[in-house]
Amino acid sequence: MPECIFCKIVNGSVPASKVYEDDKVVAFDDLNPQSPTHILIIPKEHIPSVNYIDESNSSIIGHIFVAISKIVKEKGLDKQGYRIVNNCGEFGGQTVEHLHFHLLGGRQLQWPPG
Ligand code: AMP
Ligand code: ZN
Repeated sequence: MPECIFCKIVNGSVPASKVYEDDKVVAFDDLNPQSPTHILIIPKEHIPSVNYIDESNSSIIGHIFVAISKIVKEKGLDKQGYRIVNNCGEFGGQTVEHLHFHLLGGRQLQWPPG
């Protein structure tokens, strides 16, 4: 997906402040943070959204959450808590069409979201 900004972060042609990387997943600081810690966790494979998860690729979701569990401990967020957000489609507020999970932490978050 040559025009996808997150694929460009995966292949290194767009810089990002990476906090975690393995063979399947990259995590990096969000450019426009909404909390003291705001990290995006993405699969290296281009998957446009949750709508494109099926039996053939669903193992990536578990892999992403294992990565999140490592990152929150490294960042010291596990005790106080944090929020994982996935925006999907127009009504969900998705702006980048490459599956990603927001990790928000470091302040009290409100509910319900806007
Ligand atoms: P969403 O609105 O859920 O699709 O989230 C997309 C997120 O990607 C937003 O929070 C943006 O601030 C973030 N973002 C867009 N481009 C970049 C980039 N080049 N580096 C880091 N974060 C980005
Ligand atoms: Zn992509």
